[in-house]
Amino acid sequence: MTNISKAELAVAALRNGTVIDHIPSEVLFKAVKILGIEHVRSAVTIGNNLESKKLGHKGIIKVADVYFPEATLNRIALIAPSAVVNIIRDYEVVEKYPVTLPDTILGLVKCGNPKCITNNEPMRTRFHVVDREDVTISCHYCSHTVKSADAQIIQI
Ligand SMILES: [Zn+2]
Repeated sequence: MTNISKAELAVAALRNGTVIDHIPSEVLFKAVKILGIEHVRSAVTIGNNLESKKLGHKGIIKVADVYFPEATLNRIALIAPSAVVNIIRDYEVVEKYPVTLPDTILGLVKCGNPKCITNNEPMRTRFHVVDREDVTISCHYCSHTVKSADAQIIQI
């Protein structure tokens, strides 16, 4: 029997699929929501509060047999700019890249201004990233500004 460390067991091998690693523990379940994982039919493994040299504690999401569009994965950057995507094929990591924050975020965040048109008309919200360092976003329609960590994610 080979010597498998506990850390390795926590992130057991995936044959094919997507692993999203280095998600801060506090936002792991927001990331799950952003990816729409509730609707995925294949095996999903979610690990949280795993030890991380980079983050102290981290969360990880593993989804078998699903390759998300890059635009979907990049939405995670809104709440977890440190997240890293691993594409797995036949147990090998064939691609690995950090998520990239898009300039515009469509239909993902609810505007915090109750008077905003997006809260009163059946329409998609639209936010622009105004500060990439601090990850701050601003509503296209009413200019309401919010730090992404405090942003309310719309149920997908
Ligand atoms: Zn607004």
